[in-house]
Amino acid sequence: MTTKAYGAHAGNQPLEPMDIARRAPGPHDVQIDIAYCGVCHSDIHQVRSEWAGTRYPCVPGHEIVGRVSAVGAHVAGFRTGDLVGVGCIVDSCRHCADCGEGLENYCDHMIGTYNFPTDDAPGHTLGGYSQRIVVHEHYVLRIRHPEAQLAAVAPLLCAGITTYSPLRHWKVGPGHKVGVVGIGGLGHMGIKLAHAMGAHVVAFTTSEPKREAARTLGADEVVVSRDADEMAAHARSLDFILNTVAAPHDLDAFFALLKRDGTMTLVGAPATPHPSPEVFNLIMKRRSLAGSMIGGIPETQEMLDFCAEHGIVADIELIRADQINEAYERMIKGDVKYRFVIDNASLAA
Ligand code: NAP
Ligand code: ZN
Ligand code: ZN
Repeated sequence: MTTKAYGAHAGNQPLEPMDIARRAPGPHDVQIDIAYCGVCHSDIHQVRSEWAGTRYPCVPGHEIVGRVSAVGAHVAGFRTGDLVGVGCIVDSCRHCADCGEGLENYCDHMIGTYNFPTDDAPGHTLGGYSQRIVVHEHYVLRIRHPEAQLAAVAPLLCAGITTYSPLRHWKVGPGHKVGVVGIGGLGHMGIKLAHAMGAHVVAFTTSEPKREAARTLGADEVVVSRDADEMAAHARSLDFILNTVAAPHDLDAFFALLKRDGTMTLVGAPATPHPSPEVFNLIMKRRSLAGSMIGGIPETQEMLDFCAEHGIVADIELIRADQINEAYERMIKGDVKYRFVIDNASLAA
């Protein structure tokens, strides 16, 4: 079946309308009519070939929400009409130890929602900047938010789980002082989630105009990280830092803010490396530097349910598909509060 999409034919070309093929649903497949798709900074990194190995045509998008429009004969968990989501994962081996623990995100055979090999034409996966997608039921998430919030739920499928998973893994909760670095799509979700988990949240931004806005997201304190005095006021006081910044920057300035035994986890994935950390900043206080990638399917469902229960959604700006190139330029300038979401109905126009 042919479906309308938006994608790029090369890394140095803008995104443009294109027709793509979707497979007919197999016995375990769920076909979804996509209502909205969030715009992640990873979409920019990949469509522009900033990370190695982009396959073209590239149709990005892994923050997908919509309604089930058909199910395969053996699908038990979903019915036509259900509100569902698809995040960054559409397949994995389902046999290895990681899959067995529900950590499909760390499976060596994980298939991402776009830019990963598949038997379907054109030989690699195509993402959510499209009208429709067909996904094995194992990777389909249930949405329990009210339908009126659907567009603002979309970013939970990547920005939500990518921040929720490390906050849970490092057991963030009451009594912890937690830093969130970078107030973009991921960072603004990190602030909301850490706040809902009961932590004292300090937001770090390079953008003075975000200072007040960050408080309304749930930050107890906001630091403009270019200001050395403001940074110094938090020296050796943070239990955990979640660093979401999409560009290389000085990590040492943030290590200095961790307590003894504190951890900074990187989720931002810049195209070029950070300057290497100063080792004494780590060894003198037994500090750790860590990384984390999205989250597994069970934890993504847990995160969606947690957000539904706590009334958490993303702060979004809804756009038409033909505004995507302009949206990318604005994201690179940090000019979005805090996530663009495509209204996929605009693809029909
Ligand atoms: P985003 O909305 O563009 O936000 C990134 C934020 O980083 C910006 O809002 C800005 O915050 C800060 N920033 C950007 N450039 C900076 C610079 N040169 N110096 C200092 N701060 C800078 O991006 P996103 O969608 O949240 O994604 C963030 C990163 O996470 C991307 O690299 C993306 O690929 C990656 N990612 C990783 C995973 C994973 O599984 N680990 C999943 C999704 C995304 P302020 O204005 O507040 O300073
Ligand atoms: Zn993403
Ligand atoms: Zn596996």
